[in-house]
Amino acid sequence: MPERVEKPDREWKLKLPPEAYHVLREKGTERPFTGEYWNEKAKGVYRCRGCGTPLFTSAAKYDSGCGWPSFYEPASVENLETAEDRSHLMVRTEVMCAACGGHLGHLFPDGPAPTGMRYCINSVAIDLDLEMAPDEVERGAGEGPRATDAGEGEGSA
Ligand SMILES: [Zn+2]
Repeated sequence: MPERVEKPDREWKLKLPPEAYHVLREKGTERPFTGEYWNEKAKGVYRCRGCGTPLFTSAAKYDSGCGWPSFYEPASVENLETAEDRSHLMVRTEVMCAACGGHLGHLFPDGPAPTGMRYCINSVAIDLDLEMAPDEVERGAGEGPRATDAGEGEGSA
């Protein structure tokens, strides 16, 4: 699990630009086709704009036509949290950063193979890191200390 990032609201307000604060901390939504990344094709890793946790990669980004950056899977499932969102007379699945709790967007079951899921994310809630390659992100599940050197030299003589 990512390390929790807790800040009082006034610190988020100072740290984040107003549009990012509105989305991340007040669960706002940017207008479609207006964000920085909905049509972005560059390779890299999308980090949380609040705390820098790697959330999505360009490898799973696809053109959904919805006007927001869309991904069919997260960089690491451990870095995201979801919750039921019943606002606006709809039942949707809200997607949040697991480290800072920042609101990112919503999850819809209309994505492409292999997952069939669409992570519909506000551009202003994420930040594309061009220096980091998609395969550099730790996948989370199944990660653990390697046992290759364990016991070397033991048991002989
Ligand atoms: Zn975060």
